[in-house]
Amino acid sequence: MLRRIFDSAWLYFAAAGLLLAFAVASQFHLQIPSRAKGTVDDIVALSGRDDLNVIFILVDTLRADRLGVYGYERDTSRFMDDLGRHGIVFKHVIAQSSWTKSSMASLWTATNPRKNGILRFNHSLPEDALLPAEVFQQAGFRTAGIWRNGWVAPNFGFGQGFDTYVKPVSSPERRKLQRGNPSARALKGTDLDVMDSAVEFLRNFGNERFFLYLHLMDIHQYVFDDQAPDYGSSYSDAYDKSVNWTDRTIGAFLHEIDDMDLLTKTVVVIGSDHGEAFQEHGHEGHARNLYREVAEVPFIIMLPFVLEEGIVVDSNVPNIDMWPTVLDMVGLLPLEGVDGVSQLPAILAAGGAPSESGTEGLERPIYAELDRRWGNGQSDPNPLVGVTDDQVRVFVPLNDPEKAELYDWATDPTEQNDQAGERADEVASYREMATRYVADDDPPWGVEAGTIEIEEMQLNQLKALGYRIEQ
Ligand SMILES: [Zn+2]
Repeated sequence: MLRRIFDSAWLYFAAAGLLLAFAVASQFHLQIPSRAKGTVDDIVALSGRDDLNVIFILVDTLRADRLGVYGYERDTSRFMDDLGRHGIVFKHVIAQSSWTKSSMASLWTATNPRKNGILRFNHSLPEDALLPAEVFQQAGFRTAGIWRNGWVAPNFGFGQGFDTYVKPVSSPERRKLQRGNPSARALKGTDLDVMDSAVEFLRNFGNERFFLYLHLMDIHQYVFDDQAPDYGSSYSDAYDKSVNWTDRTIGAFLHEIDDMDLLTKTVVVIGSDHGEAFQEHGHEGHARNLYREVAEVPFIIMLPFVLEEGIVVDSNVPNIDMWPTVLDMVGLLPLEGVDGVSQLPAILAAGGAPSESGTEGLERPIYAELDRRWGNGQSDPNPLVGVTDDQVRVFVPLNDPEKAELYDWATDPTEQNDQAGERADEVASYREMATRYVADDDPPWGVEAGTIEIEEMQLNQLKALGYRIEQ
């Protein structure tokens, strides 16, 4: 029945009711009203609850530093800021790659790119891989994924564990929206289509336990409305307007689910797959390198209650820790043999209630990888490995390791001043770490990633997002 609703024109008319909700959220930046106050003890108790749902909102292409709760001076994100201030914010989160498919493969499977093997445009996760949706499904949750980015399409292996996994129909635009990304204009529809389908899902299945994944794309396309603040006219300004628009879209959605009385039994997780560059290192966009502007992403958890004072986890955390953490928090089985670890002890420690297991070993070197020829099926790999270790960031091009770069966030937070020459000994040890990282390439599910043939239509849709791909 759900599939019929997603595919039917009925949505176009059903949307009339939502229009009001979205209009409201564009004017107010409200706290979600109906959750009670909670404490760190209530976080501990989450794993014992049998009524919890989880919603994961993946905001594609969202740089952490463009959100107020991560220190941005512009008023782009009052809503997400508020969620963070009364929930959990991971302050320094590093994605494992800088383009969607590779990064999402790591985020979902809690394994580094070299281990899961999703490094190129035609790689696909095998059925043997274990994804969080399968854990939810096996635990009896109703699972649905609603996505607008072709890189997480089912033929790349990302539909595993979802009862429903759909790209929503694009409805006629209900308000005048602008698209500010010059290289990526052709994606039909907006994130309102995702939210429509999500609300439909909740109206049908909100009385069951559910896991709902929403993959938003408007920031990737720099979509914004006329209520976004007038920050200016550069690409970077258009991007900020889109962050503001997306923030209000998320706010409107949360008001919708509050009206369904679901917020007191739902954990909402907000994350991203990579950031976006605005000439910090000579490029616009992403998927070309692993510098901070394309690597550092938000990770915010909205709890089913309001913390008087939000919990901030200050240590460096990789995206591969996201699902080990959330599964642990809600009391589900862990993903076995993975690189990611649960940061729940770090959350509890930051909230003043240290757990027995302690936080030792939770902060460790973080790896990222980008095959700089990921879009070309014919050429040899050109892998770049990134290592983040405390405040030091090192990038090792494996084909030419002598050209490694080292940056120190303590003195150079925007990674402009390469110190590899002065700190050669350190670089040498990081080069060794990169070599060890590459050798650690057996996936815990025992089956290597496959290569698939992509049909012309899907290929064109992926190119329309702004990438060069040659099969
Ligand atoms: Zn992406």
